[in-house]
This record gives sequence, structure tokens and C-alpha cells, in this order.
Amino acid sequence: MELTRRSVIAAGVTTLGATVLSAPHISRAASPLQRPALPFAEDALAPTISAKTLSLHYGKHHKAYFDKLNTLTAPTKYADMDLAAIMAESAKNSSDSAIFNNAAQAWNHVVYWEQLKPGGANRPQGELASQIGETFGGYEGFVKKAVDASDQVFGTGWVWLTRDDHNGLALVGYEDGNNPAAFGRPAYMGIDVWEHAYYVDYENRKADHIRAVLDKAINWNVVGDRIRA
Ligand code: MN
Repeated sequence: MELTRRSVIAAGVTTLGATVLSAPHISRAASPLQRPALPFAEDALAPTISAKTLSLHYGKHHKAYFDKLNTLTAPTKYADMDLAAIMAESAKNSSDSAIFNNAAQAWNHVVYWEQLKPGGANRPQGELASQIGETFGGYEGFVKKAVDASDQVFGTGWVWLTRDDHNGLALVGYEDGNNPAAFGRPAYMGIDVWEHAYYVDYENRKADHIRAVLDKAINWNVVGDRIRA
């Protein structure tokens, strides 16, 4: 089935049988599905991510994924499902690729905003720093691997911190809206490498954007909590 196959090609991994769908949980308590509030002011991450980029990215792009998803799912079996369930179920059905794409992008950006934080330069600490050291040869190796993974995504996509076939931490590029969680793997951290995430601020300098976000805008406590969960 196409979506799974594409994801596997991009990820270079096989999918697992178990479904790993942890945070975020966007419930159907309110129907239609509601996009969560941005957990910081639009200008709070500048200059790493400008207010203009956040206004467009959260206010236009992320909103559009929720709006489109609500429109597409309203007359379908997905209408009563929460966001994670829509994503997992539509991933199995290539005829529901439009629903999958919008559900995954709605979900991806919730994960993304939750793991960002104002305050400037910071690094992983404690157990997370040790794990990154063991797996990537240190923080610099981690950043380099993130950039390398982004280069393996030809067009739009994401770099996800997830687990590989041997249960080790891995940074993997996924095309379009695909993410590990839709295919049974944990999604600990996602770096959006669609051009809308960086072009206003960095033009074509995608690697500079990835490094800046990792150096200055990641809430490593959130990432560590996701790994421990
Ligand atoms: Mn995006």
C-alpha cells in the first residue's frame, strides 16, 4: 500500500506490528477537531524562527490541515475518531491518502510546537545527553546526522528522532507528512523541513535552519520525557 511503502523507502526501516501512538492526543471531545493553541507567543522564538514564519506556519499552514481534515472526515467513518486514530487508520488505506496527509500534518505540527521553547541556546542534559553521545558520537554528530537525514528527503518532509530496527535511537527522514507514529514507531522529536518552515527566515539554507532550531529552540526536557514515556 502506497503510503506505507513510501514511508518505508524514506525511512529505510520496516514497519512494526505494534502501534505506538502516544502524545499528542487530540480528542473528539470537541467536534470538529480543534487545533491546540500555540504554547508560546508568535515572536517568542525569534530570531531562530521569526514571528512572520510562525504566523504563517501555525496560523495558515497548520490551521489549513485541521480545516481540511475536518471537511474531509465529516461524511466518513473517521468523523468520530480522535486525531491519532484517524492517522493510524487512514495510513492503512491508500484510497484515504488525502485524509492521511492532512491528519498526519495536523498531528506532526502539534508534536513540533510542543517540543519548541523560547530562551535561546541550550543542549540536551543528563540521560538524554548520554544517549545522544552513545548513538551519534555527541551533540555535533547528532546535528550532522539530522542534516544528513534531511538531505535524504528530496522534496517536502520531516526528520524524526525515532527508533530503528534494533531499537536504537535514530534520526530518519520521512517524505511529506509521514511520521514514525503512523507506522508503529515512536516519534520523539520532529524537525519540519518543508520549505514553509524556514524559507522566510533562511531562504535555501535548510541546514542552517536545522542547526539553529536544534541549538536554540528545542525543549530537550520534552524530548527526554517522550523517550521515557
Ligand atoms: Mn510545517
